[in-house]
Amino acid sequence: MSGGRPVPAIAPLRIGQGLDVHPFAPAGERPLVLGGVVVPGAPGLVGHSDADVIAHALADALLGAVGLGDIGHHFPADQPEWAGADSTDLLARVVAMVGDARWQPVNAQCTVVCERPKLAGHLPAMVDRLSAVVGAPVAVTAKRAEGLGALGRVEGIACLAVVLLAAEPARDPAAAEPDPVAVEPDPAAAEPELTAGELA
Ligand code: MG
Repeated sequence: MSGGRPVPAIAPLRIGQGLDVHPFAPAGERPLVLGGVVVPGAPGLVGHSDADVIAHALADALLGAVGLGDIGHHFPADQPEWAGADSTDLLARVVAMVGDARWQPVNAQCTVVCERPKLAGHLPAMVDRLSAVVGAPVAVTAKRAEGLGALGRVEGIACLAVVLLAAEPARDPAAAEPDPVAVEPDPAAAEPELTAGELA
């Protein structure tokens, strides 16, 4: 076949996906934290940090989009530093890493698979919290597993996330010209490489 349509010129974009699963801890052991929001009246999840499965899936999607690995690589579970960590803080650090790589989030969507508790009443607060941390609209939807498998037996909660990133606009060389009084070469100000080879 020949004569295909030309590919339109668009801004450089990246897509990333994340997946995370955490088992429930015994009732009363720790709070359930999802999307940066404490959901009262339900057992928490087992994890080195606060086990926020939504924040973790979203962080993995962001890191994956720019080829920076996953949160287990950046915040290892064997380091006491991250014990009980607020996962929205970890997410904020990931957003900063993405920004350092000269990419900015456009939007994201998280689908949390949770048989119990019911999350509908908590989703708006999660959306607000995650959108504020990411700096772009983050949608959160909740699905039940309809009784199937480990998630359906209420053994844990899973989350899938997808995120779209756009390359930061090229800097205006004139606007970026440093103050002659404070001239100091900044290696971090190097022009970004936006080719696929960057991630090899
Ligand atoms: Mg996790």
